Amino acid sequence: MAEVLPANTIEINDAIFCQHLKEVCTECQYDGREENDAFYGFDPIDRDGLEAPTVTTTKDGVYQCKKHGSAECTQCFGWKKQITRARAAAKKAGRK
Ligand SMILES: [Zn+2]
Ligand SMILES: [Zn+2]
Repeated sequence: MAEVLPANTIEINDAIFCQHLKEVCTECQYDGREENDAFYGFDPIDRDGLEAPTVTTTKDGVYQCKKHGSAECTQCFGWKKQITRARAAAKKAGRK
């Protein structure tokens, strides 16, 4: 798949967020769940969106977690784990 992102999205450790660091954002009507689920090999379901922790940008425009200063921080940017958790919660709540 070509790496063409809609305007005003950002990529943090392979997951896509809107400019407000949200995966689902009412402000800019963005919903990146399907894209991120597909990237990690999940079937999209109606789960809660991910929210990125506080980040900083390097001078090269790479997003890093503020806490650890890492662009690939497994604690702050452990998206697969977070998606798995959100999916489990959504299923438990009877969403799909
Ligand atoms: Zn937004
Ligand atoms: Zn971190």
